[in-house]
Amino acid sequence: MSLPPSLGENISSFGQRRQLAMLLLRVLFASVFAFLISQTNLDYLESYLYDLRVRFAPAEEVSENIELVLYDQKSVENLKTNLDLNVLGKIVSAVAKDQPKYIMLNVALTEIPGTPIEKKNLARILESVPSLAVTSDDLPLKGDQEGLSLAAPYNNVKIVSAPRTADLKVNAKDGVTRRMLVSYQDQPLFHAEAAAAFNPEVKSLDKISGQFEFARSSQVFINFNRPGTYPRISAGDILNQSPTGKFKNKVVIIGNDTGQSNQDYILTPYSREVMAMTTSEMHANMIDTIIKNAAPTPIPKWINFLIIWLVSVFTVHVVLTMSPAKGILTLGGTVVGFILASVALFWTANLWIGQAAPLLAIFLCYYFFIPYRLIVENRRSWEYYQKNKLLSQVEELKTNFISMMSHDLKTPIARIQGMTDMILKDSVALSTQQREAVDTIKHSSDDLLKFINAILNYGRIESQGVQLNLQSKDINSLLQEVIRKHEFLAKVKRIQIVSELEPLFPVPVDSDLMKQVFSNLVENAIKYSPEDTKILVSSEESDTKVVVQVADQGPGIPADELQNIFMKFFRSKNVKSSPIKGSGLGLYLAKYFTELHEGRIFVESSHGNGSTFTVELPIEQGGTNA
Ligand code: ADP
Repeated sequence: MSLPPSLGENISSFGQRRQLAMLLLRVLFASVFAFLISQTNLDYLESYLYDLRVRFAPAEEVSENIELVLYDQKSVENLKTNLDLNVLGKIVSAVAKDQPKYIMLNVALTEIPGTPIEKKNLARILESVPSLAVTSDDLPLKGDQEGLSLAAPYNNVKIVSAPRTADLKVNAKDGVTRRMLVSYQDQPLFHAEAAAAFNPEVKSLDKISGQFEFARSSQVFINFNRPGTYPRISAGDILNQSPTGKFKNKVVIIGNDTGQSNQDYILTPYSREVMAMTTSEMHANMIDTIIKNAAPTPIPKWINFLIIWLVSVFTVHVVLTMSPAKGILTLGGTVVGFILASVALFWTANLWIGQAAPLLAIFLCYYFFIPYRLIVENRRSWEYYQKNKLLSQVEELKTNFISMMSHDLKTPIARIQGMTDMILKDSVALSTQQREAVDTIKHSSDDLLKFINAILNYGRIESQGVQLNLQSKDINSLLQEVIRKHEFLAKVKRIQIVSELEPLFPVPVDSDLMKQVFSNLVENAIKYSPEDTKILVSSEESDTKVVVQVADQGPGIPADELQNIFMKFFRSKNVKSSPIKGSGLGLYLAKYFTELHEGRIFVESSHGNGSTFTVELPIEQGGTNA
């Protein structure tokens, strides 16, 4: 049934609009999710994922401009003392002999005990080395010309601001050091200044990549290398044997590594152990980050949001449209792909893409929309169940109707046929006109009976009720019987049925069913062939099968219909508009019955050149009961 065009268009445009509305609704939901997630504080998780990327990064080459001189446990054992003022003075003097570019004295000078004379002596030594600076966690005040200074007697010793920035109160709040200051109130801090001496490219502060503003300072993330990466010398060894040119033009960082004070250590992305890395090594990493100008750079916030939004929309789409297994696989692939891509970008291009929010978005969208989908599918299967119930009722009605036909229609038709036969036998009593009328009644009732039989067989098949009754039979005798029955019909159209039957071994068949198959082929050949043509019925035997063919000189079957003619109720376009009657069930039943015998039926035909139907039956077969 086709709808009037305007109504059809209305319905389809309504369907399209509904689909569009659903799509927009999904995008809207996903956008709300993306917005909420992007507003959530995920710093701890994000930093943890950041640390993982740092931890598993392949080792990078470091610049060879930095050396560590550490007063470690070995030094304590060698010199039989903790770092005191005299020893420190000697270490500085030994290092200074080598003329490094910078000496960074990374010790809490004022906390080292000693007599005033010892302090003065040390102060004098420190003042005499122009490349030396003592590090401080303090920041210089703006406009303070003097800069930072220590209490007397160290008030003339150069002091530089090199603060550490553990995430104690901000970001992840886990105490891990990840950032460093490049400048404070637009003044470069020591690390940036020292790095510029080795890489002129970063002389100008704005050339340092990865900077972000943070509490009136400009900062970058430290490109950390594993602890132990930078060359280090035990301070005790230097006193025993002076370095010879090793430190020339380098940055030498002198510090503590005795494990006695937390102040000398930081937590790093590699480890949250208290003594994960010395602050001296932290300074080495900081300076090197700027020398290499390779600070991990967070991507702009809007790109991060775009990623969250995209994965949210994608997840909602996948959950609502794909099968559960395919959906899980697709989302799993997306998660893995996203993680791999963000890790690869971090390792190769120092780009830091937020992972926590997009992963959380996928997770939440999945778990939020799965129940929604379940509800929708539940409703659908309920509707389907209801429809199915209705269909089985209709099916039952159909079966009842078919059995009613078998009993109630066949009997009256048999009576009509009996009566017409009786009338036709008495040739005298009828005028020619009356005889023609009774003939027509007889043919019509024959057609009706055939039609009813076809429908009955179809009904049996549909309700799986065909039982094979196999008996060894000579196929030729079945064919002869069929030909004999159709001779009269053929004669009316002056069609000659020629048979070429080779002697055959008996084959186990259900005679009734196979007779129906052959009858249908012969009857079709007669029905569809023009007058004055021939039909050839042949049989032959090979090793494993008996082959029966019915060939006619009829109109043939168009190529585009060939694959359909064995389908139930199929009738060719041409015959539907012709007066030739038929139910479209004959070949369907022929195929069904042949296949019940484990045989095969097929046709070779071309439009205008006749048709040849072939039935192959196996000589040995199990005889499937259907
Ligand atoms: P019907 O009751 O229409 O004959 P069948 O299932 O026996 O149904 O055949 C299906 C269709 O195949 C026919 O409608 C006809 O178009 C085509 N067909 C079958 N046998 C022949 C034949 N020998 N020559 C041409 N067309 C045929």
